Amino acid sequence: MTEPATTSAAPAAQDHLNADVVVVGSGVSGSAAALHAAREGARVVLVEKSADPGGSAALSAGMFWTAPNAEAYNRRIPLGQSDHGSALVDDYEDSVGELREMGVRVSQEPTWDIMTFGIGYSTDIQGFLEHARAEVVAHGGEVLTGTSVIELHQYSAVPGQGVTGVTASRSSGGLLDIVAGAVVMATGGFQGDPEALSRYMGPNADRLLFRSNPGSVGDGLRLGRAAGAGSSKGMSTFYGHLLPRPVDQFTTEEFLPYSQYYSGHTVLVNMHGERFADETLGDELLNQDLTFQPGARGVLIFDDHVHRTEAMRESFPGLGLIDRFDTAVRAGGKHHSAATLEELVDQVAAWGIDRANLWATVDAYITAAEDGSGSAHGIAVSSAARAPQTSPFHALMVQPSITFTFGGLPTSTCGEVLDYDGRPVPGLFAAGADVGGVSNYGYAGGLAPGYITGRWAGRSAAQLAASSQTREQRSNA
Ligand SMILES: Cc1cc2nc3c(=O)[nH]c(=O)nc-3n(C[C@H](O)[C@H](O)[C@H](O)COP(=O)(O)OP(=O)(O)OC[C@H]3O[C@@H](n4cnc5c(N)ncnc54)[C@H](O)[C@@H]3O)c2cc1C
Repeated sequence: MTEPATTSAAPAAQDHLNADVVVVGSGVSGSAAALHAAREGARVVLVEKSADPGGSAALSAGMFWTAPNAEAYNRRIPLGQSDHGSALVDDYEDSVGELREMGVRVSQEPTWDIMTFGIGYSTDIQGFLEHARAEVVAHGGEVLTGTSVIELHQYSAVPGQGVTGVTASRSSGGLLDIVAGAVVMATGGFQGDPEALSRYMGPNADRLLFRSNPGSVGDGLRLGRAAGAGSSKGMSTFYGHLLPRPVDQFTTEEFLPYSQYYSGHTVLVNMHGERFADETLGDELLNQDLTFQPGARGVLIFDDHVHRTEAMRESFPGLGLIDRFDTAVRAGGKHHSAATLEELVDQVAAWGIDRANLWATVDAYITAAEDGSGSAHGIAVSSAARAPQTSPFHALMVQPSITFTFGGLPTSTCGEVLDYDGRPVPGLFAAGADVGGVSNYGYAGGLAPGYITGRWAGRSAAQLAASSQTREQRSNA
């Protein structure tokens, strides 16, 4: 698909626009919100701060996935927003059908057990992003890149009374005011704001390796709160993957190949040589747990069998069929390999880990995995755990990363942003990673929840903007 010719960096010599709906952020959720608002008949302005649209969605592996049903959502994410979880799984198949109707490439068959429990289809997410922008423009809307929303207009100085538009700063210079019937915040989370990460998550969170588009620095949360939004679940939890430590460089091209998706099949210890989590819960949970361990780093210990199977497997289409251990070693990650586990433990101890502690941990894990006792030194060892047994044995130093935050703005399942009393802030909507609590420690996916919450917000925003009251207010503004 080709970019519509009408998409421009910014309208020349124009500092004032009227719109029915302004959507802030052009990732998967903003694109879905803009598309669905435009289909409802709204005049949409989609505003993106970067020169290139698409956010993290444009960097992603394109797996459009979530929980297979509400029970699975509640089991995996017991601390999540269960009303959002139910609505999300209800809308999932319909959304996959919509992508197909748009001509977006979607795999025929679903992949099961994504992140240990999900269902998903491999999609051409770039194709969707391009389609959405083209359709917004075809419906008479605009897509403005290099344009960063810095303020929400409010009915009154008292937050919570309602939002009537935005002020944006243009990279070409100057400010742009857009008066609108509704505003959808789809800015992708607050992972790019180290101060907010420290505040909400605690020590080490500001040291997480950044595995995200650069524009998601918490504008949705900050501006939404200033306009009267309340607080959400999940503020201290996030999505990311374990990466080798150190890494020589970490550009967007390295985001996928450096991720150690197979860590659930290893023994993971901290720098005291102790386990702290049931590894079989999966890499995206271990990534969060390791953040709060001493120095936010640890060591994966595994055998030749895991290296040749899980570390070389394509966990789902789009991730690439590569040797992830070998890639980590070439990236600069500290590592050792040895013929026996005893020798490996000797080598790893040289990284400053107490040898006796480390050996006791590995030994107790092997015993628990073999006798099925269920725990070692008080930490769960799943019945699915397998003791390392095939030489050579490997160790890789790892560190956590952050792709997006799970906390954000509280919303209804119509996408309305809610205040501390659960009342909608009139005119303000949110989508994607700006919606708080859909994932909370447990992860329900990024692209499909982004698309679906974008659809909720876009439709609701267009319906509100279409009400005669808001049209009148806009024309008087
Ligand atoms: C390497 C990688 C692989 C991934 N693979 C998958 C996968 O296979 N499946 C999956 O489900 N998820 C995946 N994800 C996660 C997924 O990409 C995100 O969950 C999803 O893109 C979030 O959607 P969003 O619309 O909320 O934010 P984004 O897609 O990140 O878009 C947010 C946009 O808002 C813009 N913005 C921010 N502030 C402003 C402002 N003030 N004014 C204007 N614009 C602003 C940003 O510049 C950005 O373009 C992956 C992510 C990465 C990085």
